[in-house]
Amino acid sequence: MVWALGLAAAVLVLAGIAGFLWVNRLFEAPEATRVASLAVELGATRVMTVFAHPDDEQLANGLITSAKAGGAYVAQVTATRGEAGTQVPVVARQRDLGIIRHAEVLKNGFALGIDEQEVWDYPDGGVPEVPMEELVGRVAEAMTRYRPDLVVTFWPASGATGHKDHMRMGLVAEQAIARLRAGVGDYRGPRHIAYALTPPRAMARLAGETGRFVVENQPAPTHAVPGNTASKLKGWEIHASQGDYVRRAYGVPARLLYLVWDKEFYALRNAADIGKED
Ligand SMILES: [Zn+2]
Repeated sequence: MVWALGLAAAVLVLAGIAGFLWVNRLFEAPEATRVASLAVELGATRVMTVFAHPDDEQLANGLITSAKAGGAYVAQVTATRGEAGTQVPVVARQRDLGIIRHAEVLKNGFALGIDEQEVWDYPDGGVPEVPMEELVGRVAEAMTRYRPDLVVTFWPASGATGHKDHMRMGLVAEQAIARLRAGVGDYRGPRHIAYALTPPRAMARLAGETGRFVVENQPAPTHAVPGNTASKLKGWEIHASQGDYVRRAYGVPARLLYLVWDKEFYALRNAADIGKED
């Protein structure tokens, strides 16, 4: 009887370990080259992120903090104040959410060591309705000021999560870069563009229809960077209005998710290749 219980316990433990290893493998991408810092790997000393919402930078903590550790300057543009977001938990009047999230992203940017940050006030959920000319002009102008040699943004056809604002800001960043390359100024745009991707296998297997859409419309990751889990956990604390986001979206506590999702994945392209066939 005792040995039977012991055997049952051992079987359960082994099943648990096997399950953990199976899930863990879904958050790996063996095709990606592992680097400690993408900025250092590329010799990039100026990095600029182009995102849509407060908390989008939570996809890139590892890239940002490793760039800072390598001595790079980092600037960030966030196109909206995230005023249409769902509060989890509710921490403020919904009509004040834009102000709250504006402050949250500034605080998280400060915690990440970002040097300069801009939070614009394009409509959360309505970025695709903003005239392209206005967005491209404004992002190109910001790039001219910050002079990044590496730009980090979303893949235009998938947006990492399928969010239309993400997709649009990725397209805007690409067109801004193409405009700078074709321009006559002394700054002709970054050398590289890194697209922040979600783990493709996990998206395909665990994220339903949205996950399949994302994976079918994004390139394979070329690079993997260690995710900075401590920074991500701190970031969700700072984004207090989104503090339970991971638990709501993924069904597990953030601490548990980042046990397996411990890398960030990027598709890297030369800026010279933007606009060519993918
Ligand atoms: Zn977002």
